[in-house]
Amino acid sequence: MSSPLSPQQAAAPAHRAFSEAFGGEPDGVWRAPGRVNLIGEHTDYNEGFALPFAIDLAAHVAVQARPDRLVRLLSTHGGGVVELDLDALSRDGAPGWSVYPAGVAWALAEHGVRLPGFDLALDSTVPAGSGLSSSHAIECAVATALSELAGADLTPQDLVLVTQRAENAFVGAPTGILDQSASLRGTAGHAVFLDCRDQGVELIPFDADAAGLAVLVVDTKVAHSHAGGGYAERRASCELGAEVLGVEALRDVSSEDLAEARGLLDPVTFRRVRHVVTEDERVLATVEVLRTEGPAAIGPLLDASHASMRDDFEISCPELDLAVEAARSAGALGARMTGGGFGGSAIALIPRAAEGAVRDAVSAAFRRAGFTAPDLFTVVPAEGARRVL
Ligand code: ADP
Ligand code: MG
Repeated sequence: MSSPLSPQQAAAPAHRAFSEAFGGEPDGVWRAPGRVNLIGEHTDYNEGFALPFAIDLAAHVAVQARPDRLVRLLSTHGGGVVELDLDALSRDGAPGWSVYPAGVAWALAEHGVRLPGFDLALDSTVPAGSGLSSSHAIECAVATALSELAGADLTPQDLVLVTQRAENAFVGAPTGILDQSASLRGTAGHAVFLDCRDQGVELIPFDADAAGLAVLVVDTKVAHSHAGGGYAERRASCELGAEVLGVEALRDVSSEDLAEARGLLDPVTFRRVRHVVTEDERVLATVEVLRTEGPAAIGPLLDASHASMRDDFEISCPELDLAVEAARSAGALGARMTGGGFGGSAIALIPRAAEGAVRDAVSAAFRRAGFTAPDLFTVVPAEGARRVL
C-alpha cells in the first residue's frame, strides 16, 4: 500500500486534530513509521542481529510547547484529552496510550533534556497491536518532536536508547532496540541491518518493488502483548542459556557450539537457545544474499526463520502458521511471522503477479478454519522518523 499522499497531506489529520482540540497552530508535525522485521526475531536482547525496515504506515504528532509544566495529549483514535503534570510523570498516573508519550518525556528528562510542557495530537495509520510496532511509532515521533522542541542535540542513536529506556523502565516492557532502530534510522528502499551489541547500523538495499516483488502483511487480528508473560519468559530462558553456557549473551554462541550446548541445557532452554543462534546466522545470510543475489533469493531463509519460531522458540500461533502456509502454497517465495509473536502479523514475500492469488488463498484458508478475517496489505521500506511540517 504505497501511500499516494504527500508528506503534508499525511500530516493533515494530526494537524487538524491539534487545532480542534487545543486551538491555534502547532509548532510542528513530526512523523515516525511502524516497522516490519524482515528477519531476526528475539535476537535483539541477545545482542545479536536483526534486519527490520521502516514501513509506509506512520504515527504523526502535532506538538506545541507550553510556557508551564502541563502536558495535554489527544489521539484521533479517541479517548479524549489526557492531562499530566510533567514533573510528576509515573506509570500508574498515565492512563491508556498516554504511557508512551509520558514514558518518552520521562526518559528524555532522565537523559538530562530540560523539556517544556506541551500539547500533543496524535494520528497514526499503524494498526495497534498487530506486531508492526504502533507503540514505537508513537514513542519515536514523540522523542523526535520533544528533543527538537527542547533544543537538545540528540543523535538517532541517543533517541534509540531514550525510547528503550521509556519502554523498559516506564512502560514496563522488557524489549530491545529493534523497533525504534527501524523507526528512527530506516530509509526508503533499504532494510536496517542492526548489530544489537554496539547498536551499529548498516543500510542494506531492499527494493522488493524493483525486483517485481511485494511484501504482503497478514494481520491475523490476534492481539499480542509485549508486557505479557510470553515475551518475558522467552527473554528469561535466553538469559538462563547464556549463563549456563558461560557467555555474555547468546550472540557469543555459534551453531558449532550447539552440539555441546545440548548436553548442558534442559531441552526447552536448548531449543530457545538454538532458535536465537540459528536466527542470528539467518540474518547474516539474508544480508549476504540481498547483497549478492537480491530480494527474490531470501525466501528459504524466511521460511526457515518461521519454522524455528514455531518449533524451537514456540512463539507462533495457529493463525500465523496458517497465514504462512497458505501464502506459500499460493506462490509466496517465503513467509514468516514478524514481531514478538503470540499473535500479530505474518509477512510473505510474493511475486507481484501472484498477489491476488495469495490474498485469496490466505482469506479462504482463514474462512475455512473459522478464524477472524485477516487484514491484508502490502508495505514498502520507507523513510524513518523526521519533521514534516
Ligand atoms: P504494537 O506496538 O505491536 O502495535 P503494542 O501493544 O506494543 O502493539 O502497542 C499498542 C498500543 O499502542 C495500544 O494499546 C495503544 O495504547 C497504543 N496505540 C497505538 N496506536 C494508537 C493510536 N493511534 N492512538 C492511541 N493509542 C495508540
Ligand atoms: Mg509495541
